[in-house]
Amino acid sequence: MTDRKGLEISSLVRRYGEKTAVDDLSFSVDRGDIFALLGPNGAGKTTTLKMISGLVIPDSGDITLNDEPVGSARRRIAYVPDEPTIFPNLSGREYLRYAGRLRGLDPEAIHQRILLCSRVFEMDGWLDHRSGSYSHGMIQRVVLSGAFIARPDLYVIDEPLVGLDPPAAETFWRMVEAAAAEGAVVLISTHTLPIASIHCHRFGIIHNGRLVRTLSRGELSGRDLQNLFFEVTGTSPAEVQDFFHCY
Ligand code: ATP
Repeated sequence: MTDRKGLEISSLVRRYGEKTAVDDLSFSVDRGDIFALLGPNGAGKTTTLKMISGLVIPDSGDITLNDEPVGSARRRIAYVPDEPTIFPNLSGREYLRYAGRLRGLDPEAIHQRILLCSRVFEMDGWLDHRSGSYSHGMIQRVVLSGAFIARPDLYVIDEPLVGLDPPAAETFWRMVEAAAAEGAVVLISTHTLPIASIHCHRFGIIHNGRLVRTLSRGELSGRDLQNLFFEVTGTSPAEVQDFFHCY
C-alpha cells in the first residue's frame, strides 16, 4: 500500500454483456483537486462514477480513497447522479434532514448546514414545499446541497450544471472550489467544456471506455478544451447546412 492521498483508480474494467463500458481505466485525483471526467455520450463516464460510488460493481480493478478501498469509505463519499430524484411527497428540507441523518450528523449540525445551503442556493422560499412541485433546477439545488451538507472527503458529481440557472451554477462552482480548498477530492463529469476549463484543475477525456488524454489546466495553456476534445476523441459536430433544403 502506498501513502498516496486522494482518489486512486487502477485498471478498472466493467462489461455489460459484450460491451466493455470501462476498459482498463487508471487515473488519480489528489486531495484539493477538481477533476473533470469528459467524454462523448456512451464513453463510460457514468459507469465510472457509479463504480467509484459503489453503485456498480467493477469486473476488475482497484479504487482507493486516501489509501482505503472505497468499499469501506462509503460514508465519506457523496454521489450526485445525473438524473437526481427526490420522493415527491418529501419537502426539500425533509430530504436534506434524511441525507444528514444517513451521514450520522446530529440534528443541530444538520439544522445549521441546511440553513447555510438554503441561503447559498436560495431555497428559503420553497424548501418546505413538496418536492413534487419542484422544477429540475430546484431538485438539483436540493440534491447538491445534500452532498455539501455531508462534507465528504470525495464528491462524485455527474453533470451538475443541467438545470441550474447562471447564479446557481456559479454558486455550485464556488462551493466545490471551497470544498477542494478544504482538502476534498472533487470528481465531476460534464459536457459543459468551456465552464469546466475555467473551474477544474485537471481533465481526463475518455472514449470507448478508455482514457485517451489527461491534462492539467496549466497544460491547456489557453487552448480551447472543446477543440482538444474533438481532436482526441475523433468527434466533430455534423454539417447541417443542407438539412432544411432536402425535403
Ligand atoms: P453520457 O454522456 O451519454 O451520459 P456516459 O459516458 O456516462 O454517457 P455510460 O452511461 O457510462 O456513458 O455508458 C457507457 C456504455 O455502457 C454505453 O454503451 C451504455 O450503453 C453502456 N451501459 C451503461 N449502463 C448499462 C447497463 N445498465 N446495461 C447495459 N449497458 C449499459
